[in-house]
Amino acid sequence: MNPHFDNSFSRLPPFLFERVQPTPIKNPKLVHVTKLREELGLHLSDEDLTGWLNGELALPGEQRIATRYAGHQFGHWAGQLGDGRAISLGEIITANGYRLEVQTKGSGLTPFSRMGDGKAVIRSSVREYICSEAMAALNIPTTRVLALLTGEDEVYRETIERSSVVARVFPTNIRFGHFEMLYHSKKKDELKALIEYTRMTFFGNLPVPEMLHEIVRRNAHLMADWMANGFCHGVMNTDNMSILGLTIDYGPYGFMEDTDLNFICNHSDNGGRYAYGQQPGVAKWNLSRLLTCFMDELPLEDLQKILNSFPEMYQPRFTELGKRKLGLFQSHGGDHQLFTDLLALMGKLSLDFTFTFRSLSSDLREFRDYYGQREEFEAWLVRYDERLKLEVIEPAQRQEKMRMVNPKFILRNYIAQEVIEDVEAGSCLKLSAWLELLSRPFEEHSEMKAYAMPTPYEKKNIVVSCSS
Ligand code: AMP
Ligand code: MG
Repeated sequence: MNPHFDNSFSRLPPFLFERVQPTPIKNPKLVHVTKLREELGLHLSDEDLTGWLNGELALPGEQRIATRYAGHQFGHWAGQLGDGRAISLGEIITANGYRLEVQTKGSGLTPFSRMGDGKAVIRSSVREYICSEAMAALNIPTTRVLALLTGEDEVYRETIERSSVVARVFPTNIRFGHFEMLYHSKKKDELKALIEYTRMTFFGNLPVPEMLHEIVRRNAHLMADWMANGFCHGVMNTDNMSILGLTIDYGPYGFMEDTDLNFICNHSDNGGRYAYGQQPGVAKWNLSRLLTCFMDELPLEDLQKILNSFPEMYQPRFTELGKRKLGLFQSHGGDHQLFTDLLALMGKLSLDFTFTFRSLSSDLREFRDYYGQREEFEAWLVRYDERLKLEVIEPAQRQEKMRMVNPKFILRNYIAQEVIEDVEAGSCLKLSAWLELLSRPFEEHSEMKAYAMPTPYEKKNIVVSCSS
């Protein structure tokens, strides 16, 4: 039995996409498949699944398209970009009635490849693959993945690397940049069609103003989620912003280790435009670029109001997540301050973001063993202890709840690097093991304790190449 395809995007005006053919990678090897395989109803052998994802086998009802979008990159209008190496193989309606699109990244040249080669390398595919699943387990909205293939083509980056394809899955690939493409090329009918389609297919038929409010809300909440987990995306261009408020396009992202508002994970981001602490502001700016595309739909002041709701959506959510991280369930005046003071202190003392919150969620012995006596931190702890006296929950129960929001494990860069090297050497073991562990990041996994500690000095500052 075949999956049930319903390729709704390709019923949109043809300006929005091109029909394309994937370029298969050489000697594809299926390195990993996720549970989405069952959910999507892909009842194929490994061989056929590999063939399908590699463009060598067609399934009845599938499609092969690359979409046209534009974007603002690092604050500047970049014009047309588009799916330069990603090909949509179709939208599947699952048994539960969800629409899930399968898109393969690294499938060769498309009309939007510009100067690129249409390829993806193992390094970048593994990073996208594992982080998508790690983010989902942290309850952060994200695109998901279905499978990872490696190949034997030589791909030229800073060095010669090997080819790979990552199959990712989302309800839709629509980015802010799709709207920008149409608005800025004055394709009014096409823009109207895209707006109608988005509204009806992904926003339960909400009227346009409400849909825009919802888009602002989702992106504001996504920023709060990123900030509360120390996640830095690294390339928040408008073409990398999902209309559904999903984390999308994992490039030089990083989970912050030493707490630092100015943490930059993208080494070509010299000005720090996309530094960790800049992200909520950048999201709002990106939303302003999106809302501009609705100028023919709504009066400017309405759009302005919608945009200005961003802080009202972001702040309470961030405050709430901060309270949960501290295990505060009652509401009291200085709660948010207590949280931001801790962040400031963690920054000043360069404390590991994840390890510090996890230590607060259990006993602080390990923290003290690692960092020694930190007087300023002790002063903050006295305030925290005072505040905790206002809670009614039992301490043990509070800490248990805290351990459900403060992960013990995150995808540290050096861990990703270990996995990449293993996959490049032809093994699937570390990838499977880390996917499994990071799918339950809040649990103890005592045998892996070393990886929960702050990153050892010699493994810090692994430079992530921006080329992918
Ligand atoms: P990214 O920075 O990965 O979000 O990509 C920005 C734009 O460049 C998108 O239009 C991508 O499709 C395109 N792109 C990135 N890498 C390649 C590549 N190797 N070949 C073709 N297009 C690419
Ligand atoms: Mg992109």
